[in-house]
Parts: sequence; structure tokens; C-alpha cells
Amino acid sequence: MAYRAPVSEITFLLEHVLGGTRLGETSLFADATLDTAAAILDEAAKLAEGEIAPLNRIGDQQGAKLENGMVRCTPGFREAYHALATGGWVGMNGPEAYGGMGMPMALTVAVNEMMSSACLSLALNPLMTQGQIEALEHHASDALKDIYLEKLVSGQWTGTMNLTEPQAGSDVGALTTKAEDNGDGSYRITGQKIFISWGDHDVAENIVHLVLARLPGAPAGTKGISLFAVPKFIPDAAGNPGAANSLRAVSLEHKMGLHGSPTCVMAFEGATGWMVGAENGGMAAMFTMMNNARLGVGIQGLSQAEAAYQQALEYAHERRQGRPPVEGFSTIIGHADVRRNLLTMKALTQSARAICLDCAISLDLARANGDEAQAARAAFLTPIAKTFGTDVGCEVAALGVQVHGGMGYIEETGAAQFYRDVRVTAIYEGTNGIQAMDMVGRKLKDGGTAARALLDEIRATAATGGPHPRLSAAVEHLERATAWMLDAGLNDRFAGAVPYLRAFALTLGGHYLLRAAQADGARMPLAAFHIRQLMAQVGPLCEAACEGAAPLYADPLAV
Ligand SMILES: Cc1cc2nc3c(=O)[nH]c(=O)nc-3n(C[C@H](O)[C@H](O)[C@H](O)COP(=O)(O)OP(=O)(O)OC[C@H]3O[C@@H](n4cnc5c(N)ncnc54)[C@H](O)[C@@H]3O)c2cc1C
Repeated sequence: MAYRAPVSEITFLLEHVLGGTRLGETSLFADATLDTAAAILDEAAKLAEGEIAPLNRIGDQQGAKLENGMVRCTPGFREAYHALATGGWVGMNGPEAYGGMGMPMALTVAVNEMMSSACLSLALNPLMTQGQIEALEHHASDALKDIYLEKLVSGQWTGTMNLTEPQAGSDVGALTTKAEDNGDGSYRITGQKIFISWGDHDVAENIVHLVLARLPGAPAGTKGISLFAVPKFIPDAAGNPGAANSLRAVSLEHKMGLHGSPTCVMAFEGATGWMVGAENGGMAAMFTMMNNARLGVGIQGLSQAEAAYQQALEYAHERRQGRPPVEGFSTIIGHADVRRNLLTMKALTQSARAICLDCAISLDLARANGDEAQAARAAFLTPIAKTFGTDVGCEVAALGVQVHGGMGYIEETGAAQFYRDVRVTAIYEGTNGIQAMDMVGRKLKDGGTAARALLDEIRATAATGGPHPRLSAAVEHLERATAWMLDAGLNDRFAGAVPYLRAFALTLGGHYLLRAAQADGARMPLAAFHIRQLMAQVGPLCEAACEGAAPLYADPLAV
């Protein structure tokens, strides 16, 4: 089934639910009016539907290969990547001083959703570059910016993020890759990184690796990590790719999905790199990239939910099986249980999209107006966007397989590919469990101000009337759970972090869907379904969130 980019859905959300017009009212994003946004999204949709989507299946079947020390990508990826780069889509929110379009994050994530729905493996490449552009923009010296930013923004060169080592995954502070000062402003980087997305490829002329490493005598843990830009080919005096650096892709991981994305084991063998940011300040710089990537990965989850929903809906309209008990239906779309699955998929997908776009708008407003409250709002929404977006991706893709019946388990339909491809999004960029811990740990350090401000917004929506008092009840449940979290010890909070985040996300979903329904009455049945059915879990989730850690240690879980 052909993917159709949901342009009108996104523009509706921006205009009627999320207050997207506020962006065009700032001087920074004065060009980003709703009309311009719609025109940009239409252009992106043409590329996503026409050139990128046809590669999704090919990427799955003919994944990246390592041949004679070189990674060869899926046939067609090179040309499609070129179309993405020359269209300006890689650098759409990159700095204008380096050739970027300076577009708001809200539009960038909307475009990224479409490109990722079309082909997640390929769209992961520009996502990494976009994160790197932001990290260099904020933390690199002017000299480094001048060498790298224009090439990255134009998509001529691509970026990677090198954190993970065999013994250092979630615990980045355990990494051992070494950096030694060459005494000429450069450093010698030695170590092995694993699971590096797009670590090597043949779709662009150079690759810039951002590598976390440790200087001799650096403090233990995350306080002793520095960040280095390590190019595959060292730029010559004219800024073009010059001598090959001492680094290579040693092997490619054999993965459950995302076959088109080369996931590399990288060896840095005394490679030359340049420090980004301060000595031992690597985590701060990397956090810029990771925060960008967290929202980006939430969007990846959403993108697969949207694609899986579209395909399942079309299948349900075509497949005849059994006689639906309701007049006027001849295919499985008439069966109540199939409708429940599809409504769940639709409501979760729309909720996740609203959360991600709202987070992006807050980031944009914080940047445009120097608004601290919007920055705190974005920081609180980021782990929700990452976790809920990717959980929804996994759940909706699984329901998509279910709606297809046995054909969902057969690769030809493509339903299984969404399920396989999306699974990693709940793992990488900080596992979802760790995101939830970030929410109840770091993101409540403000004494609950950002959480309560959001709850006030939801309360205001609930007060305007709706299909069920459950939305206001959910706010009260979350108020109590938030108060409990603020009093509890850290491990007790961590024990309840996942149900707390889920309850918050489902309630935010109800708030957005109800606002959408207030703007367009035809959307009321979906809002009612979400609030009555899916939000039935909110109260019990909040209770579970406040149980504390002791019950989790009561069973010995003996091997
Ligand atoms: C396809 C793919 C692409 C990737 N791309 C990149 C990339 O481009 N760059 C890069 O640097 N890395 C990349 N990664 C690595 C990815 O970010 C890590 O796999 C992820 O951070 C988890 O680390 P880990 O695999 O070591 O799992 P572990 O850290 O060993 O975690 C195992 C389990 O324990 C849990 N856990 C661990 N620590 C804690 C804790 N403190 N509290 C509670 N629970 C905990 C985790 O949630 C998880 O469930 C990629 C991975 C994959 C599979």
C-alpha cells in the first residue's frame, strides 16, 4: 500500500490544537506562517511519497553490506539521500549563516515524520546529522564551525554519534575510549564503539563522527568525558575531504529490523580529532545532540505508527471474512474488535503526534523569545515524547500485524517490517525506562512546576466540557501522583516512573484530542473513545506509580 503523508492532519494540529500561529508571531520565525508551513509540508510530502517510500521494502530486503572494508548501502539510497540533501531537508532548521533554512523545530519534526514513515532506515541518517549540527552550533569553536557546519547543513557530509561501547551502554560514564593531546590543537583517539548508526556508508563524500572519549587523568564517570569531532576524511586546506583518517567500520550488526541503516562497530586507531566544547565537558555538548535526538526518535516511533495504521486501515477495508453484524459492512472493518484495534491505533498515533509537535513548539518558543517557562515545558515533554512516541510505535505496529491476521505475519504485506523496524526506537537514545526515570528524577527537580503547569492546561481543557468527566479525574490522579513523587525517595520514584509517564501521556492525549474535537465536531467520537476507553488506565497507572520500590524486590527473581 502506498504511504500518504498526513499533511492536512499536521496543519490542522498546528492551527487548531497547538497554537502553531505563535511561531510566525516571533521575529525569529516570522516566515513560518501557517501558509508557508503548509507549502513546505506539501513539498516534503511529494518527496516522501514519490521517492523515499518506494525504497522502504528494498532497504529491508537488501540491507547495507560491508565489502572489502567499505559499507555499500541499499540500491537507490544514494540517489534518495541526494534528493533529501539537495532539497534542503537535512539543514532545514540549521543556522542560516551556514546555509540552513533556520526553520522552526516544529516544521522539522513534521518533515522528519513523513520521511521516516516513508523509510525509517534512510531517514535515520539526516536525523543524526541534524543533531550534530545543533551540537556543533552550540559548543564548537568558530574554526570548527567554519570547516564543518556548511558541509553538514547542505548534507554533503553526514554526522554520527559515538557513545556506546561494549561495557558502556546506558552507563555512558563507563566508556574507555582514549584521547591524547597531539600538542597541535588536535587529539589522537583510540578505542572501539559499537552500534554506531550510519557509521560508514557510500551515500555522501565524508562522515563526521562525534566521539566521546577520556583524556589521561580525567575524573571517573561522566565528569571526565570530552567530545571530539573525528572526520572519516580529514578536511584539506580548501575544506574538501583529504587524507583518510585512522578509523574504520570493523563489522555491521545483524539486526531485527532497520536493515537499510548500517549499524557499525567502529574502530578508532589513533584517529585525529578536534575537541568540541570544554575539556571534560563532553556530556554537556552531547546532551544538546541527545535532546534533539530524543524528540527525533519519538518522531521515529510516531512515523511507524502512522504508516502501520494507514496500511491496516486499508487492509481492513478490503479483507472479507465472516459477516459483520452491522448493516452496511462487508469487510472486516465491520467487526467491533477490528474497529477497536483501529481506533486504538488512530487515537494513540494522534496523541503521540500532538505531544511531539507540542514539545517542538515549546522548544521553538523558548529559543525565539528566551522564554524559560517554555524551555522547562519542552524539557518536561521531551522524555514523554521519546517514550510515548516509541511505545506507541511498537504498540500500533503490533496491532497493525493483528489487524492483518495471518497475513500480518507474512513479510509480503509489510506489516511485520514496521513492527521489526520500530522496535529499536524504544531502546536507543536512552531506553524508555531510563527516559521515565529522567522524568521523575531530573525533570521534577523544579519542585513540580513544569508538571503542574501542564496539568493546569489540561484542567482548563477539561473545564470546557467534554464527553466524560474522566479527563478532570485524570488530572487529579496525576496531581496526587506528582505530589507523591516529589516526596518519595529516588528508587521509589524510579519504580513508578514508567506507569507515571504513561498516565501523563495518555492524559495529554485526551487533552489534545478533545481540543481537536472542539475545533472540528467530526473528531468527537475519537476523542470520546480515547477518554472513555484508553484513559480508563490512568487511575490504576497512577496507583501503581505510587507503590514504591519494595514490591519489586519482594520476589527474589532467582535464576
Ligand atoms: C540499531 C541500533 C542503533 C544504535 N545507534 C547508536 C548510535 O548511533 N550511537 C550510539 O552511541 N549508540 C547507538 N546505539 C546504542 C544504544 O543507544 C544502546 O543500545 C542503548 O543506550 C542501551 O544500551 P545497552 O544496549 O548497553 O543496554 P544496557 O545499558 O545494558 O541496558 C539493558 C537493560 O537494563 C536497563 N538499565 C540499564 N541501566 C539502568 C539503570 N541505571 N536503571 C534502570 N535500568 C537500567 C535498560 O533500560 C535495559 O532494559 C544503537 C543501538 C542499536 C540497537
